[in-house]
Amino acid sequence: MEATIDGRKGVSVNWEGSAISRPRLVVKPERITELIEIVKSQTKYPSPVRAVGFQHSITRCAVADGGTLVDMRHFNRILEFGQGHVRVQAGIRIYDLVKALDSRGLQLCACPEFGDISAGSVACTSNRYISSRGILGQLSSTVVAMKLVTPQGEKLDITAKQPDLLNVMRSSFGLMGIVYEVTFAVRDKIGFVVERQQMAIDDLSLALAEIDTAGTGIELTLYPFSNKAQLEIRHSVNLDKKTRQWALILRAWGWNCFVPFLAQVLKRVLPIARPRAELLDVLLFQAQKLFAKVADDHIGEMSAVCLPRCRLPDWGRCTYTTWAFPAEDFSLLIDKYVDFCHEFQREQKYRCDLPTKSVFVPKDSASLLSYAGEGDMYTLDVFSSGDKGWEDFLIELNEFCSANNGVPLLNQTKLLSQRQAAKGLGIKLRTFKRLRRNVDRNNRLSSTFFQPLVG
Ligand SMILES: Cc1cc2nc3c(=O)[nH]c(=O)nc-3n(C[C@H](O)[C@H](O)[C@H](O)COP(=O)(O)OP(=O)(O)OC[C@H]3O[C@@H](n4cnc5c(N)ncnc54)[C@H](O)[C@@H]3O)c2cc1C
Repeated sequence: MEATIDGRKGVSVNWEGSAISRPRLVVKPERITELIEIVKSQTKYPSPVRAVGFQHSITRCAVADGGTLVDMRHFNRILEFGQGHVRVQAGIRIYDLVKALDSRGLQLCACPEFGDISAGSVACTSNRYISSRGILGQLSSTVVAMKLVTPQGEKLDITAKQPDLLNVMRSSFGLMGIVYEVTFAVRDKIGFVVERQQMAIDDLSLALAEIDTAGTGIELTLYPFSNKAQLEIRHSVNLDKKTRQWALILRAWGWNCFVPFLAQVLKRVLPIARPRAELLDVLLFQAQKLFAKVADDHIGEMSAVCLPRCRLPDWGRCTYTTWAFPAEDFSLLIDKYVDFCHEFQREQKYRCDLPTKSVFVPKDSASLLSYAGEGDMYTLDVFSSGDKGWEDFLIELNEFCSANNGVPLLNQTKLLSQRQAAKGLGIKLRTFKRLRRNVDRNNRLSSTFFQPLVG
């Protein structure tokens, strides 16, 4: 086990540089016995004890200030390809798992695009992916068993025969135990086709109303200042025809790597915010239009859209925040969001320089704190290069979302307050708080980030 005490090496930073963690100790265990010792020995390994994967979360959910940061990346093996499932160690990179399954004609039952994330983290946090027939919107909901070390340092196996425990663990954010093994449901590979339509935001409500959402994937790109939108409708299809992956890879790479990089380059060469944002709107919308012409109707394989690490320089990264809203009122919410963006620009002279995205996530109560537990939802994923004014915007945005029945994702909603978390998650959060307190009375695993939110 590698360990570093205090000093510079003990400082750890998340992907976008927004969450700096100053643990007293960083450890990289290789065996379960080591993990148990870390959790048990409070004198040797100070609290809080926080497990991390690839630290690609954009909130402070993985920080362990003054405590012990447990880097799980030595737990990186696939343990079993079973009948309808795969059992893996918690530190394995999802990209590696997706490729290993692909070579056996299998795939996960959700479709992550950014693969530089660990199995342990996605198993116990809120996530959002484009769903379609046979494919869920949350990867955590496809977890059918887990093994963990409890806050008391005991081993605990949770299987499908304990659905209530699994339900709590799937949104436990490392607060109920450190996960060292995860079993995901898997399925035979399927493909998908995407139809893309560009339109005015004003026409979106009619277009959304016409979609039969059962088994259909939906992704939106919204340009609130140009009254433009792109609607992507995704259908699952059998893989009995020729597939063409290049367009899907290009799209996933474009949104996750190239667009953030372009936004940061433009920030340097065109420092005046408004014309820069207007230029980005034009460039990105035209690129989407062109892409739709050449790539529509291609059949793609889901595993092709899962990308490894983005190799562009660190400064070429962007940031985002996410809320979720009931699907039945989402068209109305978009109108209000557009008004909110305009008003904020008028009053505070700030607007986000990147478009806003949204995915449809069907009702999913597989985890206690699921944002889609009560019904179908759309996420509102607000992107920015993180330029001056972004944090003030986030504070107002959170007020707007909370006032409009938004549900936060504890690991993906930035600058969330206790009041907003309580309003959005309601009784589910109170239940989680009570359970957490019972399971971890000494706050062995709870951090300064989580304590105000979940007690
Ligand atoms: C470019 C980019 C694109 C993204 N796209 C999407 C997207 O499309 N959809 C989406 O939902 N998210 C997306 N994300 C967010 C990211 O996928 C999630 O935040 C993911 O959980 C991060 O994985 P990680 O391994 O880096 O976790 P970390 O940031 O290391 O940890 C996340 C949380 O899980 C806990 N944890 C980690 N490992 C364990 C363990 N073994 N046991 C218990 N708790 C553990 C941590 O304590 C922390 O609270 C994106 C992020 C980036 C940077």
